[in-house]
Amino acid sequence: MNSAEVLGSMVSQVGSGDIKVIDLTNVLSPDFPVLVLPEEFAQCAPFKRETISQYNDKGPMWYWNNISMNEHTGTHFDAPVHWVTGKDLPDSTVDKLAAKEFIGQAVVMDFTDECAADPDFVLTAADIKHWETQNGKIPPQAWIMFHTGWASKVGTEEYTNLRDDGAHTPGPDPSAIEFLVHERDCKGLGVETIGTDAGQGHVFEPPYPAHNILHGNGRYGLQCLTNLDQLPTFGSVIIASPLKIEDGSGSPLRVIALVAS
Ligand code: MN
Repeated sequence: MNSAEVLGSMVSQVGSGDIKVIDLTNVLSPDFPVLVLPEEFAQCAPFKRETISQYNDKGPMWYWNNISMNEHTGTHFDAPVHWVTGKDLPDSTVDKLAAKEFIGQAVVMDFTDECAADPDFVLTAADIKHWETQNGKIPPQAWIMFHTGWASKVGTEEYTNLRDDGAHTPGPDPSAIEFLVHERDCKGLGVETIGTDAGQGHVFEPPYPAHNILHGNGRYGLQCLTNLDQLPTFGSVIIASPLKIEDGSGSPLRVIALVAS
C-alpha cells in the first residue's frame, strides 16, 4: 500500500469503527488538582474559567470563556525545556518541536496490581526487563505508558495522596529511566499521576529522575492520562499534540489513541 492508500484506509476504518479512537484525556476543570511543591518554591495555578457571555446582554448570540492555567495542568505534555537538564537542547520548547514528534506508538506496561498494593511503588530497570520477558521487547521511539490504575482515583484525595511529607504516588527510579532512554530509545513516559516522577521522587539521585533524565535526553512526558486500560500492550498509536505556546515548557492537550480491533 502506498502512503495515500494507507491514509485513506485509516480514515475509512476510523469511520467504520474498525480502528477505535480512545480518549486518554481527563476533563480540564477548576477542581482538577495541580502539583503542589514544597512551600519555599513558587506554586502553579490551576485551571480557571471566566465566562465572557452566554447568550445574554454581554453577548446575545454567543457563548465563550476566558481561560487561564499553568502549562502543566490537567492532562498535559512536558517538553525537554521544562527541566534544567534540557534547557540547552535545541528546539526543546513546545512551539519548536517538530509536529511529527507528536505521533508515536505506545507500549502499555501494566503495574496496577503492584501499585494497588503499594502507592509508593517504584518501577526499576529490573522490573522492566522482567516485564519484557513476559510481554516482549519494547520497540524504539515508543511512548512508555506506565499503567498504575491511578486514573481511577481522580476526584478523590487518593489521587494526589498528600501526606505531611508530600505526595505518595508511584513512579520510576533512575535505573528505569536510564534503561528506557538509553537501551530502548523511548519517545517519552506517559503516566496517570500528576508528575512523571513518583510522589517521593526527590529522594532519588538524581532527584526527580524521570524529569532529569527524560528531558536531559530530549524525551517527553505525558501526565494525568486516563483510559490506559483500554489500550493493548503493543500496537496503539498515540496522537499527543501540545499547544504551540511561544517558548512554552508544556501544555494541556487532548491525547487520543488509535487502536486496532
Ligand atoms: Mn508536567
